Parts: sequence; C-alpha cells; structure tokens
Amino acid sequence: MPDTMENSPVSSPESSPGPTPRPNFIRNAIDEDLAAGRHARVATRFPPEPNGYLHIGHAKSICLNFGIAADYRGICNLRFDDTNPEKESEEFEQAIAEDVRWLGFGWDDRYFHASDYFEQLYVFAEELITRGKAYVDSLSPEEMRRHRGTLTEPGIDSPWRSRSIEENLELFRRMRAGEFPDGSHVLRAKIDMASPNLNLRDPVLYRIRSTPHHRTGSTWHIYPMYDYTHCISDALEGITHSLCTLEFEDHRPLYDWVLDNISTPCHPQQIEFARLELNYTLTSKRKLHALVSEGLVEGWDDPRLPTLKGMRRRGYSPQALREFCERVGLTKKNTVIDMGMLETCVREDLDARTARMMAVLQPLKVVIESYPEAEVELLTVPNHPKDPALGERQVPFARELWIERDDFMEEPPKKFHRLGPGREVRLRYGYLITCREVVKDAAGEIVELRCIHDPASRGGNAPDGRQVKGTIHWVAAPTAITAEVRLYDRLFTVPDPGAQEDFRQFLNPDSRRVISGAMVEPALADSASGETFQFERLGYFCTDRDAEAGAPVFNRTVTLRGTWAKVQGGTE
Ligand code: ATP
Ligand code: MG
Repeated sequence: MPDTMENSPVSSPESSPGPTPRPNFIRNAIDEDLAAGRHARVATRFPPEPNGYLHIGHAKSICLNFGIAADYRGICNLRFDDTNPEKESEEFEQAIAEDVRWLGFGWDDRYFHASDYFEQLYVFAEELITRGKAYVDSLSPEEMRRHRGTLTEPGIDSPWRSRSIEENLELFRRMRAGEFPDGSHVLRAKIDMASPNLNLRDPVLYRIRSTPHHRTGSTWHIYPMYDYTHCISDALEGITHSLCTLEFEDHRPLYDWVLDNISTPCHPQQIEFARLELNYTLTSKRKLHALVSEGLVEGWDDPRLPTLKGMRRRGYSPQALREFCERVGLTKKNTVIDMGMLETCVREDLDARTARMMAVLQPLKVVIESYPEAEVELLTVPNHPKDPALGERQVPFARELWIERDDFMEEPPKKFHRLGPGREVRLRYGYLITCREVVKDAAGEIVELRCIHDPASRGGNAPDGRQVKGTIHWVAAPTAITAEVRLYDRLFTVPDPGAQEDFRQFLNPDSRRVISGAMVEPALADSASGETFQFERLGYFCTDRDAEAGAPVFNRTVTLRGTWAKVQGGTE
C-alpha cells in the first residue's frame, strides 16, 4: 500500500472556476456518505489502460473523477490499469498523463500503476486459495467456455474445482515461477457456476502470460485480470467512490465479492454512469486504432479525431471540453450526444476570448483606382468587438487588396448585398468601395475588379449617412501573407458510424480540404502553434503545428454558426 495517499487535495483546473456543478446521483450518493460519516474525505481515481490515446469519452470520466475530488476537496489518483502486457506501452502512458494535465487536472505524486500492486495482488490471491475461495483450473479455454453455460442455462463445475487447498497453492506458486506454458492453467474464483450473473460463474482471476511487461519486465509469468485487479487497487489506494461506466454494472457483485473475501483495509463503492457517445464519430479505442493504423486519418492527433490530441490540434480548449462534459451531465441511461453540442461549447469559448483577424480563403484581386499607388495606410482596429482587454492592432490598407471570390457576383440576385458591377460595399474597418469594371482573362475567368473608394468613408461609414448593406472582409495585397488553410468537417457522413457493419465505408470524403493560397493579414505571420483566432466571417481557426516548419498553416476549428457542410470554404 503506497503511503502517499495523504496528499494535498487535487489541483483544480488552471483556468477560472468552471460552472457550478449540477446535482446528480453520484453527488447525492457522496453527500449521503459524508452526512452519515462513512468517509472523512472523498477519494476517486481515473484508471486508464495504457493501450491507446484518450478520447472525448475519457474526458468525461476525467472531468467527473477529478472534478468531484476538486469540488469536495478530496483527492483523485491517476492510475494506469496496466495488467495486459500484450497491448500496453510506455508511449501510451506518457501521452495519457500529458492529456490529463492538458485538460487541467493534476495528481501531485499520486501517479500509480496497477502493476505497482502485483505483489500484493498475488498475496491476496493466495489468501483466497487458503480460504478455499479460489482454485487452479486446468481446463482448456475452449472447455472452459463450454462449461460456462448461457444466460438461460447454468454452467457446470470444472473437474478441477475440488482440488485441495495445498494442491492449488502449489500449482499457483509454480504458475508464478513460470513453470507452465501460456493457457495451461488459470486461477479462478470459487463462487457459483449456476449464478444468473455470468460474471460470478467462477471468473478467472489470473492467467499465464510469458510476454514481458513494459514496467515489470519478465518478473511475472502470471497477470491478474481486470475485475480482480481493479477493486483491490481501489481498496489499496483508499478510494471511496469508484466511478465507472454502465457496462460494469453486472461486474459490481464480483467487485464486492473479491473485497468481501480478502482482508483489505477498506471497501470502496462502485457507482456506474452512462458512457459518453457522440454522433458522427467513433469513441471505440479499437476503431480509432484502425483509422490510424490503416492510414485513414493522419495519426492520433489528426484534427478530425475525437482524441484529446486531435481536438487540441484542432483548436478546442480544455475549458471548452470541461464545459461540454459539465453540460452533458451524468445519467444512468446510454444516449448519443449531438456533435453540435460540443461545437457550441467550442464556439462559445472561442467567441469570448479570441482575437478577430482577416483572412481571404479564395482571393480575388481588387484594385482601387482612386487610391494612391504607393500608399499603405495603417488602420487601428479592435481585436474583439466586445472585449477591449484583447487590445487593438494595425491593419494595413492599400490600393490593391484581396477579397473573397464569392463576395462578388457579376449578376447578383436581389438578396445578395455584397459586391457586383456598379454596387457599393463596405470593406470592414476600411472604406466604402464601388465596383467599376470587371477584368477577365482569355478564358472568361474574372481575375480582377477595378473599384473606386469614398475617401471620406474611412472606418467604413458613409459621410452622408447613405445605406450600404454589405460588409466584406479583405486583406491588403502588398503586405498579405500566403497561408495554407485546412478546412475540417465531420469525419463520417452518418450519425452512427460505429453501428455500421464497416465504418470505413462512411468516411466523409470532404472531411479535410486544404487551401494552399489563402491570404492573411500580416499580424498572423508569427502566430504560435495552438493559437486560436476568429477569421472574420469564416469561422474559428487555430495555428497548426506544421506552421513551425515555415509557412503559416491554420486549421479551421469550428464554423461561426452551426451550419456545418453548407460552408465549403467561402463565407457563411
Ligand atoms: P477498453 O475497452 O480498452 O477498456 P476504455 O475506453 O474503457 O477501453 P480505459 O482506458 O479502460 O478505456 O478507460 C479509462 C476510463 O475511462 C474508464 O474508467 C472508462 O470507464 C472511462 N471511459 C472510457 N470510455 C468512456 C466513455 N465513452 N464515456 C465515459 N467514460 C469512459
Ligand atoms: Mg476499460
């Protein structure tokens, strides 16, 4: 038992305090326990298996476990559930720890591994054997399956169930010593082969594996099963409330059985809650693995993935994810949450705190014939429409500008309030301009608009109060920076890709569009990887880490409104 449990309370999220937590059945249970004096302090844990990267579903579990501990001034441990040497690795472990920190939670020195407890787990197994509560079974896996029975038929006892305590102890010790090949024996709990709950039909507690473990090397030849390990690890760490997802509800009697039959210091309470599922994406580790290993996405941090790494690269902030987990709330019933709800949280967060910038994705040249040739004028503009704390910046204006190609129409319909031949439009923060001439190339493609400006409209207001409905964004050509912009959309075309026979067939072919010749204002030249902005009228964007290699690269984090897929690179 590590003696590091008595630490300072869990760190709360680094940012300003989150929303006030809503009451829920878990909080109610904790309140009752505290009121009844059952615990002096709340202790939870987040127990990831280091066999993949964390995703949005794990974020819910992290926010719940660390959040509860923070609210009750208790502790939350980070514990790696590393009992399967075949699939786990150090790389995953480090990435998981980094992701939990990024989400805003800390564990001080309460950083544990189930493998830290292998010796104690072993001792408890011998205790079970000694009490006649566990036996070594030598049936083949196939025979064991056949003996197990079904939901409607009871199982049958293994012929090895009546081995003597001495024989069991001897065999178990030899299993530990590595004397037997994989699969030749297992240690099973002796509970009830006729139990209506299949988990209680003498579940396997230990299996033989000759594979070395990433932390314990080749010390062990036997490895404990999840159900056996988890409850004991919880008890050893003094966890009070072991929060897990609904599929473990049927395992709770086993959790309790194990703790009731060994001499552990305490008996944590397992409470189940519904998994978080999101539509238009996958939250199964196995399927995410397939997407990455088959090259269907560009790695674990592909901005289209619901992995914490992917969402971070996409520009989602920890605050937005925590807010989302809070809004989703806790239930006892599995439901699928709309992706739009996550996007709303991301949008609200970015709206409040990102600087507005101008960028043109599909540039069309505008020449303002009335503007002096060599002049570059600096306009002082606010970075945020509502929050002066975000400051101001200088935006260059010049005779030649870029505007969005689809902000001009040669034959505009009535409702189109942007630029057209002879029409006047407002350049955001700049001047009112009127289009005089459309220049085309030999193929008939529009290559340039010749315009004039109203010099008295600096800042964008007509001096005589005349109505100019349309406002468009722009970037001055002489100082523009060419950037790559990546427009992300949903990875799947169906709301429930996980329920399809083969999710690969429902990948959205337009989930990633790369625009290489976007023009952005110079203030964006040296933005740091991970910085987020609103590109006026286009959406929220985040500087991609690829920008570190040279040219600026921006990922679209989310559109301005919830109109996904309608926007294909142009304005909304
Ligand atoms: P596996 O099938 O490999 O066990 P897992 O998704 O359960 O996958 P773990 O690493 O065991 O992965 O999960 C760590 C913790 O996160 C567990 O307590 C688990 O219940 C919780 N968790 C995993 N997926 C979700 C989800 N979609 N919603 C809420 N909690 C989840
Ligand atoms: Mg799991």
